[in-house]
Amino acid sequence: MTPRIYRSPLPDKPIVQRSIFTHQFSDFSKYPSEYPAYIDAQTGVTLNRGHIKDFALSFGYSLRNEKLAKRGDTVMMYSPNSISWPVVVFGAVAAGLRCTFANPASTADELAYQYKDSQAFLICTTRANLNTVQQMLTSEAVGVASKEDAERRIILLPDDFDWVLGTKKTDGEKPISKFTRLEDLLNLGRLKQEEQFQGVDAEQETVFLCYSSGTTGKPKGVETTHQNLTTVLDIVVSGFPPLSPTDDRMLAILPFYHIYGLVKLLLFPFLCGVSTIVLPNFDPVKFCESIQRYRITVTLIVPPVLVVMARHECVHQYDMSSLRIMFSGAAPLGGDLVRAVRSRLRPTNLPPLHIVQGYGLTETSPTTHLLPLLPAREWGDMTEESKYGSIGFLLPNLEARLVADDKDGHAKTDDEVVDAPEGERGEIWIRGRSVMKGYLNNSAANANAFYPHLTYTPSNPIPGSRWFKTGDIGVVDKDGFFWVVDRKKELIKYKGFQVPPAELESILLTHPKVADVGVIGVESTRESTELPRAYIVPADPSIQTLELVREVQEWVKTKVAKHKFLRGGVIAVQAIPKSASGKILRRHLKEQALKELAGK
Ligand code: AMP
Repeated sequence: MTPRIYRSPLPDKPIVQRSIFTHQFSDFSKYPSEYPAYIDAQTGVTLNRGHIKDFALSFGYSLRNEKLAKRGDTVMMYSPNSISWPVVVFGAVAAGLRCTFANPASTADELAYQYKDSQAFLICTTRANLNTVQQMLTSEAVGVASKEDAERRIILLPDDFDWVLGTKKTDGEKPISKFTRLEDLLNLGRLKQEEQFQGVDAEQETVFLCYSSGTTGKPKGVETTHQNLTTVLDIVVSGFPPLSPTDDRMLAILPFYHIYGLVKLLLFPFLCGVSTIVLPNFDPVKFCESIQRYRITVTLIVPPVLVVMARHECVHQYDMSSLRIMFSGAAPLGGDLVRAVRSRLRPTNLPPLHIVQGYGLTETSPTTHLLPLLPAREWGDMTEESKYGSIGFLLPNLEARLVADDKDGHAKTDDEVVDAPEGERGEIWIRGRSVMKGYLNNSAANANAFYPHLTYTPSNPIPGSRWFKTGDIGVVDKDGFFWVVDRKKELIKYKGFQVPPAELESILLTHPKVADVGVIGVESTRESTELPRAYIVPADPSIQTLELVREVQEWVKTKVAKHKFLRGGVIAVQAIPKSASGKILRRHLKEQALKELAGK
């Protein structure tokens, strides 16, 4: 049967064969070197475009020439957002390294898992995160024997970039450090960009390893190649409203360690010559204050940020009139929320504020769909309001299918894969050059994720030729706009952060009083997010379940990063519903949770 394939209304872009470093700096001379590139929102310290190029090539030089790393090694970044990020990321990429990014709230155990799995050696971190790093490196799981060896693996990021720029206003001495400091690696020499990237295999060389659980199981390293990144940046440029280096400024509150922040806030603005104002995390007052102070025009957010904007009083204490686009992603955004925020932020006759959304996954680098600014484009009689809640249309160079639910999950032949009838829901499959190369060292997960079940090898390269199964259920309306209506995969998303149930389940099973467990997500409309909820079977059926539930809820807080806390509750049950093959029947647990929550 001929598959029903959806394509973008926008024309395809040429696919380039170059490193992401060369791509990022391809238009470098178009904008003055003095243009601010990244600004620390709190201190105002600014790295201009010239600094970024200089520092990246110098850091890259030191990594290679000081024998800290060789081509293809993996360096881990474990830090909240800061203006050190572009220096580390561009520098490591310039040196031909791979980068993996850890959530700065990770515990030592979570960090150890990713450090080992990604085969990282060097780890760039802040003074505030040092303890966790040292604990991780010397833990049994990682097994670095001596303190000296652990220290050799650490590159300390500056608390304050003033020291690096030589603009520190105090007479104080620079603090002594036993660790290699980023600033010590910025004046030893400079890579020649041109030499570095001769012969790069853009299609196959992995640059980034973000972590995602995919449809099932524990977090896995997503191999994002140079070409995945150059492609996604180019197609986002064509789908995103035009940005002006002189008039636009973007505010970065989303974490750079997640592909969404990394591509859209670290790479994309630099490519367009636009300044990024960096905050370490989301705080409502600092968010509004920064919008006023820096006259921010574009901000990338997740739906829970809009919930705060719809309620928090600080919105009226600051001048938010510069804002023209709030771009939401990573989780579903409903029309009511958009309306509430728009009417709150635009009570007067100011120019319109567009609140639009995009869709994508770590595995698709990430953006595959964008909702355009309507009616800024020629889209007949459609209004922006009529498309609230839609993820928009497919970006160029990508293809999509909506595949009828395959309930058994078995391997299919071409004839067995059936597209959903027109206008009906189906699993979103995506194909194109921005789809990841695969999960790192995980052929089983790759076989599940792709159709046909090809593994990416030099003898079987054909990038972009396999369908990637997103695990999300969508529909396409008569105008070609996509709507995400459900999630088929087990992943839970708390405020845009991934919470893999399998990870929580394996941790909960190590609790001596827990015999069995199943974790699901429950909706919180108040917070516009899902909350992780655990069903546990007590090891001792005669135990006081109320106490156990409290104990388990508190105990989990000592084991995992904040976003994985069991905010959706812990419920003691007699048994976890399972299929004949022993798979947790999460649908049953979800139905049970709906009844429990409705009865409250
Ligand atoms: P991540 O890999 O962490 O970016 O998570 C990807 C998943 O987030 C997708 O598979 C969706 O389930 C969800 N997601 C991302 N963007 C949206 C959106 N605009 N609407 C609904 N779900 C989304």
